[in-house]
Amino acid sequence: MSFSHKKHLGQNFLKDTLIKDRIFLSIPSFAKNLQLVEIGTGLGDLTQRLLDFGRVVTYEIDEDLKAPLKAKFENALKDGSLEIRFENIMDSKDSAIFEGEYFLVANLPYYVATAFILKALRDEKCKGFLVMIQKEVAQKFCAQSGEKEFCALSVLSQSLGSMEYLFDVKASSFEPMPKVDSAVIYFVKTKGLISDLESLLKRAFKSPRKMLFKNLEIDKKELEEIFATLNLSMQIRPHQVSTDTYIKLLNQLQKVGKWKITTKEVT
Ligand code: SAM
Repeated sequence: MSFSHKKHLGQNFLKDTLIKDRIFLSIPSFAKNLQLVEIGTGLGDLTQRLLDFGRVVTYEIDEDLKAPLKAKFENALKDGSLEIRFENIMDSKDSAIFEGEYFLVANLPYYVATAFILKALRDEKCKGFLVMIQKEVAQKFCAQSGEKEFCALSVLSQSLGSMEYLFDVKASSFEPMPKVDSAVIYFVKTKGLISDLESLLKRAFKSPRKMLFKNLEIDKKELEEIFATLNLSMQIRPHQVSTDTYIKLLNQLQKVGKWKITTKEVT
């Protein structure tokens, strides 16, 4: 099939059959009770594999792919096992991606991967995901406290469920080849979103090399007391604090009325 790839849409299509198989085999069995949703249909190579699992709803922004996808999936579209929605997944103002409860599988376009994962984390209907993203971003989402990649993204995802780094994917697995390597991560949501935590983390990691105490920019005396209660050193850096401690810190700050809701994004 001849198709000219659109770089600005992150069109690096997955060609490696073994990687497609590994993604397919990593889909958890609980996803059988949910709708399988794919983001970024592309030429439909991964979609084809996902149809072996169950009914698929897939989203694609590029209308030039309409004709080739229609031809490729004529039968699945007819019998209803596949639905293709030509939409921009970042368009909807609220966080809803799909109307029912769903499990996400995607080879995400790099340019929108972090923002989209945050959207999925916020979306109550999203029960988990298996996504391929740029390796450095995957490391951030999965980092543990004390590791240099540990950041607001790690705390946020770990406070909502379990995030796991599954495997690396070489740039040569794609056509055209991207400049960076990728990785597949797996997330299962076990808790609801605490939106206040997002805003606390944004402040905490504002200057990652500075001390957490300074980054928080809160009345010194009150913060000293809270740090003492939590047994936290005044010299501690944001990446050295565990996810549990961030949650306790938020609770303490809320107790003294020092944390208000904002909806700014964590990046
Ligand atoms: N799933 C295919 C595969 O694995 O080969 C394609 C993956 S490719 C990395 C990402 C796909 O997402 C592209 O087809 C691109 O056009 C589509 N895409 C990019 N931005 C999008 C957006 N905002 N909404 C929906 N689809 C988007």
